[in-house]
Amino acid sequence: MLRVAVVGSGPSGVYTAQGLVQQSLVPGVRVDVLDRLPCPYGLVRYGVAPDHEKIKSLQNNLRTVLEDERVRFLGGIRIGPDALPAARLRELYHAVVYCVGAATDRHLGVPGEELPGSWSATEFVSWYSAHPDSGAEGFVLGARSAVVIGVGNVAVDVTRILARGAAELSPTDMPQSALTALAASQVTEISMVGRRGPSQARFTTKELRELGALPDTEIVVDPGELELDPAYNDPSGLPAANRRNVEVLRGWASAPPRNPASRSIRLRFFLRPVELLAGKEGDGGGRVDSVRFERTVPDGHGGVTGTGRYEDIDAQLVLRSVGYRGVPLDGLPFDAQHGTVPHLAGRVVRDGAIAPGEYVAGWIKRGPTGVIGTNRPCAKETVTSLLQDAETLLRREVPEDPLVALRAEGLTPVEWAGWQAIERAEAELGASLGRGVVKLPDWASLLAAAARTAGA
Ligand code: NAP
Repeated sequence: MLRVAVVGSGPSGVYTAQGLVQQSLVPGVRVDVLDRLPCPYGLVRYGVAPDHEKIKSLQNNLRTVLEDERVRFLGGIRIGPDALPAARLRELYHAVVYCVGAATDRHLGVPGEELPGSWSATEFVSWYSAHPDSGAEGFVLGARSAVVIGVGNVAVDVTRILARGAAELSPTDMPQSALTALAASQVTEISMVGRRGPSQARFTTKELRELGALPDTEIVVDPGELELDPAYNDPSGLPAANRRNVEVLRGWASAPPRNPASRSIRLRFFLRPVELLAGKEGDGGGRVDSVRFERTVPDGHGGVTGTGRYEDIDAQLVLRSVGYRGVPLDGLPFDAQHGTVPHLAGRVVRDGAIAPGEYVAGWIKRGPTGVIGTNRPCAKETVTSLLQDAETLLRREVPEDPLVALRAEGLTPVEWAGWQAIERAEAELGASLGRGVVKLPDWASLLAAAARTAGA
């Protein structure tokens, strides 16, 4: 029996578990999928926007894997020196695959970044996704204009959620407190700002188009900013996805004015953030009030250069959506420049040599890029490496059942029945509020719900 621990139950972790049990090279593989949260699915639960029901429904595919008799979900287990040390985990299993994603956000490194009213998009996403570590609130309170810095898919998500009304958000599983706050939001102007040109934006066309379909929302694109982009006049040399983005933006820029709408989304380009400025005392009292951008122009090599001309955009809410970043893991080597764990085809590389029995998949392996499906081939590569190593890995003795050993160490994992109890509690909460499923937003309520397993 080859016993494997997968750390992290997001898409990369679950696809790794699936790859390990759905193969015929090594019979008798058993996989424990550990997660520090009592809930599975990682960013599918805590990152995919609540109004993206179709992508959210991927949870059903992931569920099938976690319900396989050869796979166990063990939630509420954190790997770390003060919890379950990585070295101890390694003793309990023949192999450990780290699929922990990219847990933090990148920084802008400009003055004013930490002003009240300036948040990372991750903090905003965690709040409306009911992440139990969130704790933050007051994002939209008192704000009339918002600036979203960055033009990736996360920027599009947070822009769209800011622009949606209560009627559209209510059917989602958004926690009640976030729904109430967003329903009362007075934010009517949202600017999403890229430092480079429209042909270099990272969002995908499907997500971009969705902005144009928002009810009662006007999309504003300045044709002059599109023209700054050399690819605008001849987009034929662009990859298809970028070309489609340019076409959509071009359509919006040349569209005749529509009926007045309650909200507007301005898509801005060639503006590099240089400073977040606070409101004057008594007028917002030290909270962010605008963002200063420097106008940029293409440098001919895919980058931009500054022009020394500046523009301030009003914003009492700033969401910095400039990408995620991996964090160092207990006991594992770390490439600080890329925020990833060094590896060869998924095998962890320590001091230039392969570390036997340690693997990575997902964002901690390749960096925070790609859509959910990108994790399939990524996990497959890691699984192939692990199975090639199986003969060697099996030579090491491990406990008969690692779960018994974990319990003996005083750990009390939330098992599948506990997660199902959380799901029931979320359905009950939604019913009591006249909504569908509504997520529990804090550790106490999640753990209390998990304890109410059938028969407990
Ligand atoms: P991303 O795609 O890497 O986009 C980051 C954006 O931030 C880029 O526009 C980047 O501009 C900009 N940026 C970086 N540093 C900056 C700085 N110092 N100043 C100004 N702008 C800066 O990251 P993401 O949006 O967080 O998405 C992460 C991954 O998740 C992506 O692969 C994305 O497709 C995926 N995702 C997918 C979906 C979906 O499929 N619906 C939803 C959410 C996320 P430059 O290009 O100039 O660096």
